[in-house]
Amino acid sequence: MAQNIIAANWKMNNDEYSSKKLTYEFLKLLNRKNNPKTLKVLCVPHPFLLSIDNMCTGTESVFVGAQNCSSFKQGSFTGEVSALMLKSLGIKYVIIGHSERRDFFSETNEELLNKVLRSVERNISPIFCCGEPLIFRNKNNHLEYVINQLKETVLKLNKESFQKVIIAYEPVWAIGSGKTASNKEIEEMHVAIRKTIKQKFGSSVSKNTSILYGGSVNAINAKEIFEIHDVDGGLIGGASLQAQEFIDIVNSIS
Ligand code: PEP
Repeated sequence: MAQNIIAANWKMNNDEYSSKKLTYEFLKLLNRKNNPKTLKVLCVPHPFLLSIDNMCTGTESVFVGAQNCSSFKQGSFTGEVSALMLKSLGIKYVIIGHSERRDFFSETNEELLNKVLRSVERNISPIFCCGEPLIFRNKNNHLEYVINQLKETVLKLNKESFQKVIIAYEPVWAIGSGKTASNKEIEEMHVAIRKTIKQKFGSSVSKNTSILYGGSVNAINAKEIFEIHDVDGGLIGGASLQAQEFIDIVNSIS
């Protein structure tokens, strides 16, 4: 069975003080009711990894993740953060392939594959984002587009490495737009992703791969989305910046 996961993507928001305050409020609310079967991953900006991780230590099933890592192992790459550096801080998760990285930083599938390789070789699980821009959905090419993103990246891993991967399907047009994909659209894509994983790695790997949905999930729509077949949780952007709303989303998964 795939693990249920709710991951927060804080993006480039808040300073250290407000990040700690948000974490404090989140943990306080979580400690009232914490389902240990649901993994909670807070993907925070690099400078706050350690302090937020320290705050989360001791709370069951809560982990801190990064939002990016370098495609290079080490060397003269000013400003980059390697998977080894993340590993040395005890980080176990990293978002790779978010559409904002693809769009604003021109990250290609080739570069993303290298980032995935760097993270899995350090035993860090990539939360690998895929999703189609609106133009491909309008042309009815959305399935082909997303499956191709996966074929050019995570599906090139060997079976052992792939088992560390978490997939997040995030239609680009739904991110931060207040527009979620319909239940039918989400199910169609998640089923197609799982089927493709099955074809490549077999049924046991495909059943155990967590496939998250992301794109304007909030406390109101979360429950319905998490009940969709083949949805194992969510990657939450804007709504993860409010402790109460994020907790309500976490509590929406059963
Ligand atoms: C995201 O950035 O990964 C995301 C899903 O954002 P939002 O929830 O704000 O749409």
